[in-house]
Order: sequence, then structure tokens, then C-alpha cells
Amino acid sequence: MTNQYDVAIAGAGIVGMSTALWAQRRGLKAVICDANSPGSGTTFGSACTMATYACVPINSPSVITSLPSLLFSKQSPLTINYLYALKHWRWMLSFLLNCRQSRVDAIGAELGALLRQADAGLDPLIEDIKAEDLMVEEDCLYVWSTKKGFDGAAKGNDLRRRQGVEMEELNASDVRALEPALQMPIYRGLRFRGTRFILHPQKLVERMQRRFAELGGVTLLSSVNSVTFNDVGTTANLADGTSVNAGHFVVAAGAHSKSIDGAGLEKVPLGVERGYHVTYANHRNKLSRPVGWAEAGLYATPMELGLRFAGTVELDDLNAPPTLERGAYLRRRATEMFGSLDGDADDWLGYRPTLPDALPVIGPSTVSDRIIHAFGHQHIGLTLGGLTGRMVTDIVTGKERTPNVSGIGSQRFHQG
Ligand SMILES: Cc1cc2nc3c(=O)[nH]c(=O)nc-3n(C[C@H](O)[C@H](O)[C@H](O)COP(=O)(O)OP(=O)(O)OC[C@H]3O[C@@H](n4cnc5c(N)ncnc54)[C@H](O)[C@@H]3O)c2cc1C
Repeated sequence: MTNQYDVAIAGAGIVGMSTALWAQRRGLKAVICDANSPGSGTTFGSACTMATYACVPINSPSVITSLPSLLFSKQSPLTINYLYALKHWRWMLSFLLNCRQSRVDAIGAELGALLRQADAGLDPLIEDIKAEDLMVEEDCLYVWSTKKGFDGAAKGNDLRRRQGVEMEELNASDVRALEPALQMPIYRGLRFRGTRFILHPQKLVERMQRRFAELGGVTLLSSVNSVTFNDVGTTANLADGTSVNAGHFVVAAGAHSKSIDGAGLEKVPLGVERGYHVTYANHRNKLSRPVGWAEAGLYATPMELGLRFAGTVELDDLNAPPTLERGAYLRRRATEMFGSLDGDADDWLGYRPTLPDALPVIGPSTVSDRIIHAFGHQHIGLTLGGLTGRMVTDIVTGKERTPNVSGIGSQRFHQG
């Protein structure tokens, strides 16, 4: 078998396209395979924040105490389909075990180590593709409407401080001075210093793909069904009946990564946190920055397509139909935030790839070190995509992977 490429990548989201560009920067010949257009998956519909402060996992002790209501509510920011929970009880159990405070602190430390390097992973790519115009340097805000909510977030906010997140506590009038259009009750805010957001994540990935092509990279419009490997390389078998030989194969298909046979994913408990958005085309000028409303579990972000309300978590099957109440929930919260909003608004459902310990999988497969896993970025894949691309190419080129985070290999699921 002769390798046509050094690296073949499955999935042209932010993670896969960043990997493709980093591979080129390191002098590797790369091919990327995806039946869908670049950046059109979960990346497209995100809340657009470069959330370098988001080291607090969704796992928290409060999930355990509020579990009964989560199983039966459609009106809370986090909902769990109880039939799904029963069917995937091992995943749920592992998720709940990771809600213990000791685990939350340990996960937060690993996420913090990754997030501190996130800008260093993305910025060289932004410069390469000349995408500075898509980035807005404006500190993101979190807002709490109640004392109870703010006090309940104290441990999480302490964790951020310990991880070096620079943030400033604001009172209600400080928040309203920054964002006068907000109408919901405000108790406290946090301003995350030095953060920024992306005006159009899909455009960012499209520009990456164009630059990749200019530099000789190959994009194949087909998904990967399976991969085989030997000592010198890999063969990816594509849905269109063709195959691609490469020295390394990278699984970067987000929430769909387990659909690729032969990649050693049988024991990796990749789950999905479904999330929704509604984007009001007319109202982008209501905000100057993303505002996360903690009690509502959403962000309002003034992105290129309008004012986007994105968030909520639904633990349910990847293939289940959209839950209509979720869109209605976002619209109701949007009205509470800004009063009535007129004009067109789209509704979207997307799939966050999530492991029960909220950490991504970035590293060689246990079946072969020629297959590299790069998925599971849950709520922060847009933020960590660039860095993941750099880490994957560190591995492929035999450099030490930086940052050297210990808990993100797939072998963590093979122990015991
Ligand atoms: C509502 C919501 C808001 C969010 N907000 C933010 C935010 O503000 N900041 C942040 O950092 N993150 C955010 N996220 C998370 C972020 O969007 C994801 O973590 C990230 O987009 C995942 O990127 P990806 O490249 O892994 O996956 P995707 O963008 O889903 O890309 C995966 C690609 O793989 C392709 N594919 C699937 N199967 C195959 C196959 N067999 N072969 C080849 N290709 C395949 C798909 O077509 C797709 O193009 C949010 C997510 C949601 C749902």
C-alpha cells in the first residue's frame, strides 16, 4: 500500500478543517472527507463565543439533586429524555459519577489547561486565512437574574478563578450600562476580560477550506464508512465506493464520529447533548457582545445572521426529531430578555459531541496509533478546534503534544 497522503481527515467542521490547515503548516499532505459542506454541522449553529473561560463542565453536584425534575421537564435549560436515560444507563451513570465536586474540579483543571492554549491554536490559522474581520474583540458577559442563581454558581466561578480566568464582577447597573437593551431582572454579571466572538462560524470554516485548497489540499465530498490500517498506513473507505490511503487517519466527525467502523471506537462512550438556536434576523444591533443568561441556559449573540439565542441541553437520541418545545422555550426567553422581537427567525437543532466526563478525546486510538481521535468537544468545540488541530499534528509528526493534558486519551475508557 502506498500512501497518497500523510493525513486523511473525516469531518470538515471546525475541528477537522483546523487539523487540515495545521497539517499543511507542518508540511504534511492532507485530504479531508465530508459529504456535507465545510462548517455546516454543529459548528454552523453555535453561539459563536471563543469561550476561553468555559472550564466549568456541565457536570455539577446540582444535576444530581435536581435529577427528578430534569427527567420530566421540557421547560428547564437542561432536560433528559427518561427513555433515553434508561437505554443509555451506563453513560448516564458515568455522567452522574462525574458530577461529584472532586471530579468537577479535576475536569475543570484539564479543561482550563486546554482553554489557556486555545487562542494560540486558532490565531495562526486566522492570520493565514485573513479572517480578522470575522472576529470581534469584545468581552463576553454572564448575567444572573437572582441571588440564588449567582450564589449557586460560586463554586464554578471559584474554579474559573483558580484556572486563571480574568473576570470582573458587575452589579446590575454596570451590566445595564454595557448592554442597555437587556430587560430581564439582573442581580449580578461577570465580564470575562480579553475574550472575543466570531461573527459567522461557518464562514470561518469555509475560509479555512478555501485556503487549504489554495495550498494544494484535497477535499472529497463523501463521508467515511470505515477505516483499516497496517504498520505503515491507513485506508479510509468512503461512502461513494472509493478509498484513500494515508499515513494517519483522523476521526473528526463530531457527534457522528462513532459511525466510522474500524477506528477503535466501540468502547468510547461518545454521547450527544442536543442544543438549539433561534436567530432573529432583524435584531443584531440590540447587543454589542454575547450575553449568557445563566438561569436560562442560553447565550444571546449579535452575530452576522442576526441576534442568535443559542443553548439549552437536551439528553436525547441523535436521531430523535427536534423537540418543538425547545424552540418555544428559546423564543419565550428571548422576549423576557428584550421584549417582543419581530421579523424572521430560524430554528435549528445541533449536536454537541460529549463524553460523560466532559473532556474531549484527542489522541491515538487504542487499536492503532495511525488512527487519531479528535472529537468530543461538547460546549467548547469552536473555542478548542484550532488547538485540537495543532495537537493532532503534534501527534502525527511525533512532537510532544502541547499542552500535555493527561486525561484526554481514549484509553481512559478501556481501564477496568
Ligand atoms: C447550541 C450550541 C451552542 C454552542 N455554542 C458554542 C460556543 O459559543 N462556543 C464554542 O466553543 N462551542 C459552542 N458549541 C459547541 C461547538 O459548536 C461544537 O463543539 C463544535 O462545533 C464541534 O465541532 P466538530 O468539528 O467536532 O463537529 P461538526 O461541526 O459537527 O463537524 C463534524 C463534521 O463531520 C461530518 N461527518 C459526519 N459523519 C461523517 C463521516 N462518517 N465521515 C466524514 N465526515 C462526517 C459532518 O458532516 C460535519 O461536517 C455550541 C454547540 C451548540 C449545539
